[in-house]
Amino acid sequence: MNKTRMKTFTTILSQKEFSKQDIVTLLAAQGNDEKLLFARSKEIKELEVGKKVYYRGLVEFSNICSKDCFYCGIRKGNTGVSRFNLSDEQILKAADFAHKSGYGSFVMQSGEISSPAFTGRIEKLLREIKHMTNDELGITISLGEQTEETYQRWFNAGAHRYLLRIESSNRELYQKLHPNDETHDYQKRLDCLYTLKKIGYQTGTGVMIALPFQTLEHLADDILFMKEFDVDMVGMGPYIEHPDTPLYQYRSELLPLNERFKLALRMIATLRIVMRDINIAAATALQAIDPLGREKAVKVGANIIMPNITPGTYRNNYKLYENKPCVDEEPQDCVKCLDVRIKLADAEIGYGEWGDSQHFYKRNE
Ligand code: SAH
Ligand code: SF4
Repeated sequence: MNKTRMKTFTTILSQKEFSKQDIVTLLAAQGNDEKLLFARSKEIKELEVGKKVYYRGLVEFSNICSKDCFYCGIRKGNTGVSRFNLSDEQILKAADFAHKSGYGSFVMQSGEISSPAFTGRIEKLLREIKHMTNDELGITISLGEQTEETYQRWFNAGAHRYLLRIESSNRELYQKLHPNDETHDYQKRLDCLYTLKKIGYQTGTGVMIALPFQTLEHLADDILFMKEFDVDMVGMGPYIEHPDTPLYQYRSELLPLNERFKLALRMIATLRIVMRDINIAAATALQAIDPLGREKAVKVGANIIMPNITPGTYRNNYKLYENKPCVDEEPQDCVKCLDVRIKLADAEIGYGEWGDSQHFYKRNE
């Protein structure tokens, strides 16, 4: 290997501030450079947030969605999906399972619905979960774009973290991934993120990695966007095509799955180096490509895992992309296999702890 080149790469790794070009270089790392990147991100992770991994039990409680994102298998326009909506009782049972299993937190995610009935239902569920678990279970929600009033009501009812991926921080790319109408407006999504932060949520965002039309420059800008927004948590994973979506037509332009996977790991590692003390989730989409995908992400910088605890029979219908893992399993099966694998990834499990974003507390000091 060229010695000067090597020096440059290690110099970048030792910096605390990063230019867009630095980030592109990190994202493009191959061979020995990639190993150095992963070693550095692991080191920074252990220094800043420790070796603990926190579990968030994830319930994907409904695939009913009013939107038509071009990449997503449960988009409204996909008439081939059988739609489901878990009952309140099933959601509460899942929350109870998360609590009893010692997961510090619970995540409720669904397609995007905006109606007074939906807002009221979620508000009621949040209060019940808080009450039922003596306030011991942290709650994250990921229910898309909503009004400030709705976000505030859910915050008051006990949700304290919100995940809303920007999907891509590049306006033009965002537009290529969504229909050109009011319900899929980049500015609206961005405004929602600012509103969530203003209300006081620990605010999480993220992007899909290796999308059609996406370059390393776009991804570097995504990292700079997260830094500039001063985000508390990030969940990001590889884009995986779904046959019943408009973006499927570009599948021949995509990186092979194993390359997408590796790029996603480099994104996680680079983000850890740039934003040292945030929470980074190992996305389920990583596991769809590699059965040990999430554990590999933990090794290079992620510190959050969201085991899927949606009741087994419904999982088959929450397919945002192909090869979604564990769709045939019941929640209990996942607990055992995860525990063993996390230990293999040289990490510890923060049982019963909320595992809040340290970055959130520091920025509010
Ligand atoms: N409806 C909400 C939450 C559910 S979708 C929302 O859109 O915010 C959760 C995430 O799944 C999205 O943010 C998107 O980044 C991801 N996703 C959707 N389709 C995907 C695909 N084909 N490959 C990888 N991730 C996908
Ligand atoms: Fe609906 Fe979210 Fe899928 Fe878009 S990504 S279609 S909002 S579930």
